[in-house]
Amino acid sequence: MSDALSPIAVGSPISPSVVELCSQLIAIDSSNYGPGGPNGERAVADYIVERLTAVGYEPVVLESAPGRANVLLRVPGRESGLDAFLVHGHTDVVPAEADQWSVDPFAGVIKDGYIWGRGAMDMKDMVASTLSTLLRWKEKGTGPRRDMVFAFVADEEAGGTFGAQWLVSEHPEWFAGVGAAISEGGGTPVSEKDADGKTHWFYPVGTAERGTLHMRLRATGESGHASRGWADNAVTHLIDALGRLAHHGWPISLIPTSRAFIEQTAAELGIAVDLSTDEGVEAALVALGPVLRSDVPTRGSLNPTVLQAGYKVNVIPGVAEAEIDVRSIPGTEEKMLEEIDHLLGPRVTREFIAEAPGISAPFDSEWFSAIADAIVAADDEAVVLPYLLGGGTDAKAFAKLGIPGYGFAPLGRDPEGRREGGMHGVDERMPIAALEIGATILEKFLTEV
Ligand SMILES: [Zn+2]
Repeated sequence: MSDALSPIAVGSPISPSVVELCSQLIAIDSSNYGPGGPNGERAVADYIVERLTAVGYEPVVLESAPGRANVLLRVPGRESGLDAFLVHGHTDVVPAEADQWSVDPFAGVIKDGYIWGRGAMDMKDMVASTLSTLLRWKEKGTGPRRDMVFAFVADEEAGGTFGAQWLVSEHPEWFAGVGAAISEGGGTPVSEKDADGKTHWFYPVGTAERGTLHMRLRATGESGHASRGWADNAVTHLIDALGRLAHHGWPISLIPTSRAFIEQTAAELGIAVDLSTDEGVEAALVALGPVLRSDVPTRGSLNPTVLQAGYKVNVIPGVAEAEIDVRSIPGTEEKMLEEIDHLLGPRVTREFIAEAPGISAPFDSEWFSAIADAIVAADDEAVVLPYLLGGGTDAKAFAKLGIPGYGFAPLGRDPEGRREGGMHGVDERMPIAALEIGATILEKFLTEV
């Protein structure tokens, strides 16, 4: 920690490069181990506050619980009367199993054209780009066109209870007048070759997220000696229900975002598609190839993840429980729950652990156009597309305040073909060039939007 912060202590430039910022942020271990902790967000918040106050900003730290620090800052715009804009980024990371890595995951190692470490692509990269924009505004004596609200938040990796969710319910005043928001979940280049071997560059920008429905299932029966043959067995009730749920085929549901994504990528690659039937959609997804296909979740999903029952082999337990991870296409939640209840049958009940329906933001909007313009200004080959995130981000929390959220954490193309990787896994890393170009795109966007 103190080593990571020493560049400030010895008086290095007040506006370090985005790469230095990212490396220093990674070197502060802010692994999120859930409500029981430990959690390192306070140290990241202190670092951000130190950086910002050094150049004259007055950020505010709001703690939802001891150590669960959120940093808020509002920067007035040059023009009045415009909607404000929100940039949010989470400061926590998922833990890393250091012995499986080829570098120390919490050292901020810079080598071979990459920044290495936990958070390098999720999402200390964008936190660094955002900080870089703020520092450079002061350095240049400029600022944003419209009011900008910056929220560096805790706890995204565990659902945002101590971060975005808490801010939205306890401090909504910070987000008054905000017209739209950006955060992680898009704005990074992916490539695909067409039939002639020509490479096309796509920049999917998140405009929708599948819903997150986490549930606990509970089956009850009659406990007793396991030698009985006729038992009213809670375990059997539960696994029967889980079997039905896990093998259920969820229907295709194409929201406007996904339809636009398929149509625009297909047109760019010269692939003819017919999306009027399920078969046509399936064929289009195959034709797009595995990389692009992964950005078009067309169905809900359901996965059993936790099982709990019993304590002795010859005792039938009276209760058996499971947890399931359900993801829904936006707008299909009610239908999906109806189907789940039908599949559960009469012997199993459910309750929500987390219930966050899917969200959508318009992509025929000035916000989306401004995002596309900022990307194209840096890469004139860029095809900017809306896409549906299969998982979830803090955008769902801010959507509760009516704020449309865009997944736009821009990165550029590394000229030597390096790609970011290792998110939530081993050897997470970010190409230096990708981050540097991304920081330029973000600064231009936040200054001009
Ligand atoms: Zn993230």
